[in-house]
Amino acid sequence: MINFFPGPSKVYPQLKEYLAEAYELEVLSYHHRSDAFMNLSKSTMDLLRKKLDVPKSYSIFFTSSATEGWEILSQSFLDQSSLHLFSGAFGEKWFSYKKKIMPNAFGYKSPLHRQIGVTKIEAFKQMNTVCITQNETSNGSQVSNRTIQKVKKQFSSSLVFVDATSSMAGIHLDWLSADAWIASVQKCFGLPSGLGLLVCSPKAIERAYQLNFKSHYNSLVLLDEKRKIYQTTYTPNTLGIFLLNKVLNNVKHIKETDRKIKDRASKLYSFLIKNKYELLIPYDRLRSKTVIAIKDKPEAIKKIKSTALKENIKLGDGYGLWKESTFRIANFPAITDEEMDTLISFLKEYRR
Ligand SMILES: *Cc1c(COP(=O)(O)O)cnc(C)c1O
Repeated sequence: MINFFPGPSKVYPQLKEYLAEAYELEVLSYHHRSDAFMNLSKSTMDLLRKKLDVPKSYSIFFTSSATEGWEILSQSFLDQSSLHLFSGAFGEKWFSYKKKIMPNAFGYKSPLHRQIGVTKIEAFKQMNTVCITQNETSNGSQVSNRTIQKVKKQFSSSLVFVDATSSMAGIHLDWLSADAWIASVQKCFGLPSGLGLLVCSPKAIERAYQLNFKSHYNSLVLLDEKRKIYQTTYTPNTLGIFLLNKVLNNVKHIKETDRKIKDRASKLYSFLIKNKYELLIPYDRLRSKTVIAIKDKPEAIKKIKSTALKENIKLGDGYGLWKESTFRIANFPAITDEEMDTLISFLKEYRR
C-alpha cells in the first residue's frame, strides 16, 4: 500500500532493520539515567543540529507528542498574556487547550484566503506570547518563514511559539525567528508516533527561569535541568529516540530536502490545477509544501478515496471542518518520487 496519510504517515522502510538493531543492542532496556542513554540523547541532539540546522544556542527537548509541547509552553508561561493566530483545526485546538489554562488568552482566526494580517494584530502588541501554527495540517495551508519573521519583528519583546509538527524535517525553518518550535516525529520524520520535539531559544529558557513555574511535571525549568545532563524528567521513549537517531544519520541535510520537497509540491500543484482538481487553499503563497488539500463534493471525495484504495493508494482523509469535503496528500520526505509519480498517474487516469 502506498500511504499518503499526513500522520501517522509512511515510515522509512529502513525501520525494519533499525528495530531489529535496537533489540540486538539492548536499547529497549537502557536505563534513562545511564551513560548509554545520555550518549544516545546527546548524539541525537547533535544530529538534529547538524541535519536540520538547529542553532547551537537553542535547547532541544524530547517530549511525548506535539500536544504535550503545547501543554509544556502553556504551563511554563502561565501568567503571560497570549495571542493565538490560526486558520485551521490544529491551531484552534492549541488555542482551546490554552484557554483552559489561561482563560484570557486571545485567538485570532484568519480566513483561508488570507495570510495572518500582521497590521490587524497591531492592537495586541503587548501580548507576552504569540502562537502560530506554521503548517496547518488540517487544511493544507502554511505561514511562510517571511511572515513569522514579520511577527517576530512586530512583537519584538514577546516570545513567538511555532507549531511546525507537519513541516519540521520537511522544509527549512528559520529557527531564529521564533522562541519555541514544536513537532512530533510521525509526520515529516517518517517515524512511528510517540515522540515529540521542543526546540527553545535562549530567550524562552531565560524567561521560563524568571517565571520559575514548577508545579507541573512538564515545567520547562524542570525539563531544562535534566536536559543539561542529556536526560528527561520521565522515562522517555528511548526506542523512538534511537530510531530518530538512525533516521537522521541517513537523511540528507535539510537544505537539500527542502529543495526536493518544494519542487515536488510545485509539480504536484501544477498537475492538480491543470487537471481541474480544486485546491482548498486558493493562493499559491498560502499553500503548504508538505500537506496538500483537495476539495470536492462529499460523494466525489468518498469515491476517489475508495477507487484509489483499490489501486493500493491510501489518500489522506479530510480533517475537522473539511472532513467530508476534502482529501489530503502528504508530501513527506519518506515518500519516494516513484510513489508520487504513481499517485499522479492515478489522478490523471481518474480525471479522464
Ligand atoms: C499532528 C499535529 C499535531 C498533534 O501531534 P501529536 O504528536 O499527536 O500531539 C499538532 N499540530 C499539528 C500542526 C499537527 O499536524
